[in-house]
Amino acid sequence: MPEDQNKNHNLLLKANLKQLRLPTISAEFEKLAREATAAGEGHEQYLLRLTELEVATRATNALKARIKQAAFGVHKDFDTYDFSAVPGLNKQKVMELARGEWIEQHYNCCLIGSPGTGKTHLATALGLASCRQGRRVRFFTAANLVTRLEEAQKQYQLDRFLGQLDKVDLLICDELGYLSFSRPGAELLFQVFADRYERSSLLITSNLAFSDWGQVFQGERMTAALLDRLTHRCHIFEMNGESYRFRESVKAQKGKKAG
Ligand code: ADP
Ligand code: MG
Repeated sequence: MPEDQNKNHNLLLKANLKQLRLPTISAEFEKLAREATAAGEGHEQYLLRLTELEVATRATNALKARIKQAAFGVHKDFDTYDFSAVPGLNKQKVMELARGEWIEQHYNCCLIGSPGTGKTHLATALGLASCRQGRRVRFFTAANLVTRLEEAQKQYQLDRFLGQLDKVDLLICDELGYLSFSRPGAELLFQVFADRYERSSLLITSNLAFSDWGQVFQGERMTAALLDRLTHRCHIFEMNGESYRFRESVKAQKGKKAG
């Protein structure tokens, strides 16, 4: 084929691929065509390789977008979590949860334990795993979620914000119990939690034992009603022990002295 005509075809093809929103095919078809010719590959094989690239890029981009939308505070995964540091924690059960069936079944998960035991780390790792499974995840600290709810209410946007939360498959509420809320704030949070009951999943981390949740949710009745719903279908992990952070810094200090 004359070179001019070939160039023309490629320009038209690129225009079509742009209209069809196939950027990866557009970027790769010339290179792969040369490779296919060199390897003596057939047309179907060439087309298959091109479409595989497009599909893979799309999946990667979608995952990136889900992780961004989740708004994790930190990026921590299972690969950096040392289960041996928390002997009371059932690794097998945690890894089972990482497969995500509990979210399918609208179960909840609570990670309860003292500061520095890796609750945020594990909550994030579980959230990342759900993102990889194609689920929509949203991470908040409890304080942040309450602030957002109060702001939304002030601006007459509460229904809209609740609607956004409703679309999320897994809502992570980290650090419940570090701060107590105003009565209206606690009521808003209660509403979010109650709305999800048996409809979608919640992952809550807290430094407070359930018996102390009254401090956060002011009022025995509301606390009891909340705990009743939350723990009805719930995987509960107790993560008590020494702070990992603290232990690591002690180790580092000892290392310095020894060195
Ligand atoms: P918590 O939320 O329970 O207060 P974090 O998850 O914030 O604790 O953990 C504090 C720090 O220690 C983080 O940097 C976290 O990655 C690390 N950490 C905690 N537990 C472990 C663990 N078992 N293995 C590896 N890192 C851990
Ligand atoms: Mg934490």
